[in-house]
Amino acid sequence: MIFDEIKILKQHGNQFIPDVTKPQLPGPFKGRPEISAEEVNEMALASLCPTGAIGTSPVSIDMGKCVMCGECSFAYPNKIKFTTDYKIATNIRERLIVKEGDINPISIDENKIRAEIQSLFGRSLKLREISAAGSNADEQELNACGNVNFDMGRFGIEFLASPRHCDGIVITGPISENMAEAVQVCYDAVPDPKIIMLVGTDAISGGIFVGSGALNRSFLEKYIIDLYVPGNPPHPLTFVNGVLEMIRGKKKN
Ligand code: SF4
Repeated sequence: MIFDEIKILKQHGNQFIPDVTKPQLPGPFKGRPEISAEEVNEMALASLCPTGAIGTSPVSIDMGKCVMCGECSFAYPNKIKFTTDYKIATNIRERLIVKEGDINPISIDENKIRAEIQSLFGRSLKLREISAAGSNADEQELNACGNVNFDMGRFGIEFLASPRHCDGIVITGPISENMAEAVQVCYDAVPDPKIIMLVGTDAISGGIFVGSGALNRSFLEKYIIDLYVPGNPPHPLTFVNGVLEMIRGKKKN
């Protein structure tokens, strides 16, 4: 009996990703964009974007605003290409703006990581997720971070129910007026020192909801954001790699 089970386990092989820094994602995935020097009608290109993520002179894409619809790369395939580079989380908001000719990875500025983050949370980080009018897309990907493939629990990273037992909050969604107080109450309940992460385009910039009277994003003006995780929704590997680099530096395992 037990031998049958061992046989099945052997057939299944390893389901977890042994090194989360190494997987290659397939082509349809849209990660860091690259913008060539080809001359195009910049205003026409920018006008395609539903969220105003495309800047001109030089052409740029703000990954904090991009909803990954792909319209720009469909219309101007020689100008804009989305690579499969999923390591696009950063602690510097300006680094999410990729300009014409940029081919360097989007990175975390280690000098800007608060000292207590790596000394206290390097081996154990408990987080409270707040869906602040999220669509459930970002939230589903965050759930996936704990599944058997990505298994962020092996690094001591977990989502918990009570903010009083957590080290920080993870906000998804554009933060509606109805959720503004809940975000503040939840943040206040987390003991110091604490981390704030924004996950997904909606949380980072408001996404397609920018300018809506139903939003109240004043919470974000009061605090330092420790990590921006772009994507619509972000890939679990974007979240896991970003958090690991923030709490452990370049050495991840
Ligand atoms: S893929 Fe991003 S930058 Fe391009 S049009 Fe869509 S939202 Fe705008």
